[in-house]
Amino acid sequence: MKVRMGYVSNSSTSSFIVVGVAVNTDKLFTQKEVRNCECDLEGIESQYCPKCGKKTMITKSIPIPEYTNYGKIGDFEVHEIDYDDSSIIAIPDTYDRSSDYGKHKVDVPENMAELKEKMKSFLEPLGLWEEKEFGIWYGVQEG
Ligand SMILES: [Zn+2]
Repeated sequence: MKVRMGYVSNSSTSSFIVVGVAVNTDKLFTQKEVRNCECDLEGIESQYCPKCGKKTMITKSIPIPEYTNYGKIGDFEVHEIDYDDSSIIAIPDTYDRSSDYGKHKVDVPENMAELKEKMKSFLEPLGLWEEKEFGIWYGVQEG
């Protein structure tokens, strides 16, 4: 789920609201050097493959092991924000998006404090927890 933050005039907008912690999206990925083609390069050390001409190695963005199930990390939802380098790791079912005028409600789970602690203990060892980044997030996106 990609959402855009920021207001764009003369276009339709929609908004979202979610409860969770914002993290830098880069933290959900690791950069890995991987082979670019499948040619047999046994004994060949070159920047470009002599067989197909492609670069032999490229840098690939690989999700961290905990973020393999796209859109989820552990029991939590991940909302990557377009045009922003952040993602919001959310308490499940607290996300609401709408392009309608009027008011929108996110049901705050009764055990919110417990869920926050659960989230913290899962994300902290992964370097994905920052206390001040936890809250109710509101954003506006185009379209
Ligand atoms: Zn090749």
